[in-house]
Amino acid sequence: MSKRILICNRGEIAIRVAKAIRELGHIAVGFYTDNEKEAPHLEYCHEWVHLQGQSNSETYLNIEQILNVIKTHEIDAVHPGYGFLSENTQFAAALAKAGVTFIGPHADAIEKMGDKAISKQMAKEAGVPVVPGSTGEIANAEEAKKIAQEIGYPVLLKAVAGGGGKGMRTCADEKELEKNFEPVQREARSSFGNPGLLVEKFIVNPHHIEVQIIADNKGNIFHCFERECSVQRRHQKIVEEAPSPFIGEDEELRKNICETAVRLAAAVNYNSAGTVEFIMGEDKNFYFLEMNTRIQVEHPITEEITGIDLVANMIKVAVGEPLDFEKQEDIKRNGHSIECRICAEDPVSMLPAPGIVQAFETTFPQGVRFDYCFYPSFEVKPDFDPMIGKLIVRGSSREVAIRKMRSALEGLEMDGIKTNIKLHEIIINEPNFVAGKYSTNYIATIQPQNEVEKLVREEDLYLKAISYEAYRMRE
Ligand code: ADP
Ligand code: ADP
Ligand code: MG
Repeated sequence: MSKRILICNRGEIAIRVAKAIRELGHIAVGFYTDNEKEAPHLEYCHEWVHLQGQSNSETYLNIEQILNVIKTHEIDAVHPGYGFLSENTQFAAALAKAGVTFIGPHADAIEKMGDKAISKQMAKEAGVPVVPGSTGEIANAEEAKKIAQEIGYPVLLKAVAGGGGKGMRTCADEKELEKNFEPVQREARSSFGNPGLLVEKFIVNPHHIEVQIIADNKGNIFHCFERECSVQRRHQKIVEEAPSPFIGEDEELRKNICETAVRLAAAVNYNSAGTVEFIMGEDKNFYFLEMNTRIQVEHPITEEITGIDLVANMIKVAVGEPLDFEKQEDIKRNGHSIECRICAEDPVSMLPAPGIVQAFETTFPQGVRFDYCFYPSFEVKPDFDPMIGKLIVRGSSREVAIRKMRSALEGLEMDGIKTNIKLHEIIINEPNFVAGKYSTNYIATIQPQNEVEKLVREEDLYLKAISYEAYRMRE
């Protein structure tokens, strides 16, 4: 029977979710606010609801108002997307109480995995390796210093409630730890409403490798292999690929990390789509970082290599339908996939640069997937994440995928706003990336600022030359 599903999100993920809802024969209900009246995802919804208020806390994060909408619009289920209320325990619990299906895991799993200190403790108990450091929250700078002395510098101070790469600071020595402790605590309190910190060993030149999990309500937990997300700026991913070039052909290591992820998911009776993130050292030892109990930004690359629709399967499980597969062996991978996150940001400073998309053009090679959320005259607002699109390709091999991405990036032109497209072009052509040899400090090693500045200057000159040419022809 078809269900009325409310999408508690906006942007590209709201579109992605609406597509899955429609395909499954359900009814997609979307939100809009006064701050974003012509939200692009509404076109993909069957019905839309107005949320009152201006700021995100008055609208997308307003549990009370959303519960009201659920009642008045006879909603059966809610998909939270990522960000916003996707990892909010109170929200999941309130829905459960109201008899409405939350398309995500049970509230207890969100609560346990949402706290980096608690989840680390649980991982340890489940026999999952964790980064050396404090087992729980640390009380003060003195305690942090004591632990840092035991594990050795550099160390990382991390907000237990953190996310999106925020609330994290590397400390090279005791002096830096002392200096950073209170500012990180303050940042954690103001950004996440929880000042709790943990301290752990900073792994040098590591790889961010994560495993996609999908589980049902009957205790069946599967993995859909790994993704490598080591191309980051400010601890945030910008390019992801699957499979991981660092794991490469090491099938034993692949099996080990994937099965470890399943073990942790089993420890919290996981029952939806989720991701277990690991940090892997140069020596290929890996440690649990955190679990994201929601669909992730980079889920499409896993969909591309496995052929599994993760969002649809997540919905199916939540509404009591079986998954598309029965056993782990049914999930196979094929080829290689890469995603570039297209962000409205200054290509040199890499900071968000809101503005209006005047025009855009896509002349893509065959089979490119572009998950995006704008149209000509669309305003990128500072109130939301600057990511406005995801360019995704799949090839029979990594080499083919890189070639396709190169061509796709060349075919993506945007006018009116600053974007990181040029930065992606530099990365996808850079010898170490092409060789698959990069760690999380990759962006720092290529110093893209200089390259980007050069390209931007060249383009300016080129544009001036063209307009001069056009001017002369008119004469
Ligand atoms: P992913 O692995 O899916 O990329 P991220 O950690 O980058 O996960 O977060 C995805 C989105 O969710 C981003 O838009 C980010 O800003 C937002 N986000 C993640 N965690 C939090 C949090 N604790 N508070 C607010 N926003 C968050
Ligand atoms: P968030 O919730 O913000 O995504 P994570 O714990 O997943 O926080 O860490 C984000 C990124 O920070 C990782 O992908 C990695 O690049 C870096 N990082 C986190 N912990 C460590 C560590 N112990 N050593 C080195 N880098 C780390
Ligand atoms: Mg993370």
